Order: sequence, then C-alpha cells, then structure tokens
Amino acid sequence: RAIVRELDEKGIYHIPTFPLIPPKCHNPLSLIHYLFVLFFINLVQGNFGMVELCLYDPKGDQTGELVAVKSLKTENESSNLRREISTIRNLYHENIVKYKGICNDEGANIKLIMEYLPAGSLKEYLPRNKSNIDQKRLLLYALQICQGMEYLGSQNYIHRDLAARNILVENESLVKIGDFGLTKSIKDDKEYYKVTEEQDSPVYWYAPECLINRKFYKASDVWSFGVTLYEIMSYCDRENSPPQVFLKSIGRSHGQMTMARLVDALEKGWRMPCPDSCPEMVYTQIRRCWSHAPENRVDFNSLIKEFEFFLT
Ligand code: ADP
Ligand code: MG
Repeated sequence: RAIVRELDEKGIYHIPTFPLIPPKCHNPLSLIHYLFVLFFINLVQGNFGMVELCLYDPKGDQTGELVAVKSLKTENESSNLRREISTIRNLYHENIVKYKGICNDEGANIKLIMEYLPAGSLKEYLPRNKSNIDQKRLLLYALQICQGMEYLGSQNYIHRDLAARNILVENESLVKIGDFGLTKSIKDDKEYYKVTEEQDSPVYWYAPECLINRKFYKASDVWSFGVTLYEIMSYCDRENSPPQVFLKSIGRSHGQMTMARLVDALEKGWRMPCPDSCPEMVYTQIRRCWSHAPENRVDFNSLIKEFEFFLT
C-alpha cells in the first residue's frame, strides 16, 4: 500500500479496472480472474517483453496485492513465456521468485503473474544503495543466490541467464532469482542441454563450452554465477560491467568479431580482473567458477559452504 501511495504522489497514470480472463477459459494452471491495472509502471522493458506492476484485486475493491506481470511484445515469442511459466510454476524456494498464476487476455497473449519485489533487480538496487551496503551484505546475497541455484540444479534445471539484472531484491537482506526465460530442463540421463536455436545470448556471462559448443551444464551456470558475483562485488558499476571490462581490455570491434575474440581470449586464459575493493578471498571463489573445463569448476554446494564460512 505504501508503495502505491508513494508512486501515486509522483503522478503516475492510472487506468481503470478491466477483466483479463475470458470466463470459459480452461487451463490447468491457476488462473487469476481479474487484474486491476493500477498503473503502467514499466518496471522494465526487457529484451523480449515487459514487466508491469499491477494490483491483483479479486474483490475489485482495491484490497488486493501488488504483483509483477510479465508479458511479451509480440505473440510469436509467446512460446518462450509459456516455457518460462511451465518452469517457474514448479519451483518453490525462498530464493526463487514466487509464481502466482497466469492471465490470458482474450486467450491470445499469456501473462505471467509473480510476486512483486519492490526493490527491483540488483543492477538497479546496488548502485543506488551502495553507501548502505557493506561487503558482508554482498556476500549474503551471493550465498542466497547459491542456495537458490543449488535448488534449481536439484530439480534438473539450468538457468542460462544468471546475471545481476535477473536477481530481484525483496528487501535489504533477501534476494531471489528471477527470469527463467532461458531456463532449460535437462533429462535425467544427460548432463547438459544443447541449444539448437540461435538467439540473443548473454555472451559475457557464458562459459566457453556455451559459446563454442552451445552446451549448457549445471557448471555453466556456475561460470555465470562467477560473472554475477563479479558484478555484485563491483556494486553493478556500469563502467565496470562485464561487456565494458571485456571491451576495454580486448578493444572494440564490430558484430561477429567480438564474439570470436571473446572466445579466443577466454581460451587463452583471459579473465576479468579482481574488482576494486573486492577481497582477494572472494576473487578466489570467482576464479574457481571460471575454470575452463566445466568439470574443474567449483559447484554451488561448495560455494554455499565458503560463503557461510565468510559470514560467520
Ligand atoms: P526479461 O526476460 O525481459 O529480461 P525479466 O524477468 O528479467 O525479463 O524482467 C525484467 C526486469 O523487470 C528485471 O530486471 C526487474 O528489474 C523487473 N522485474 C522482473 N520481475 C520482477 C518482479 N517479480 N518484481 C519486481 N521487478 C521485477
Ligand atoms: Mg532478464
């Protein structure tokens, strides 16, 4: 409520209630019947869609709860969101964003309803609150992300888009993993997922085997966690974002070339340097995430133990 009022005072545009679900919609997933769209806060305009803040108000009397609603810009990508929904609805963990339901407007565009995390992603939160967040706090976030990832792996999922922009902040002492748009399930008899379709990949967060062979292991998520931890330890400073660091170090070029040079640099052993003021012992953990061969990387379970040790 407080958030609504605060945003209200800033003069955010309101639109009236409208029902989003046709009455005779048979869907096995839990359906949310009415969504009172309080305001269009484009929480963020993502790559493929958008996330809006809404009020889920089944009684229609504005007593409902705030939810985040994710939808896609264009329909032909809706299978992506459907896949994300089928993943996120199976996940129950303190450090994973909670699924609330889906919403169909006229049956065409599906919307994913999740709990709303008021502080946004670490990418927005850390630079803004830098002066109030000490390194211990950063390590607590790291621990929580590892706990969420350990759970995700135990369910045989590979996230494939672990990055500070996809870690959501509930409050100053709780973060959750979000954005399961690229998440894949690995079969019990397989150790990796092989990507067949070419798409916009977060290449600066990807391990060599992902870039070279398009193979994704649980250990590939560990590599991305290392990059995420790098971002966290640099308070998501834009000047030192992974793409910036790479381009500053290797030099600019155009298009496809960049990817080839990234692969080349990684194969030759190039790694991002220790962020300013990041303790050496934390950087050691980051480097353990960045072993070239997936089988040589640390796993989330061992990382949990390390961070628990740092925090005691
Ligand atoms: P995309 O696939 O477009 O990257 P995300 O799921 O990562 O979509 O969401 C994009 C952004 O929207 C996030 O970086 C975050 O700032 C915001 N966001 C997403 N989900 C929530 C949520 N549940 N609560 C608050 N903000 C959210
Ligand atoms: Mg995202």
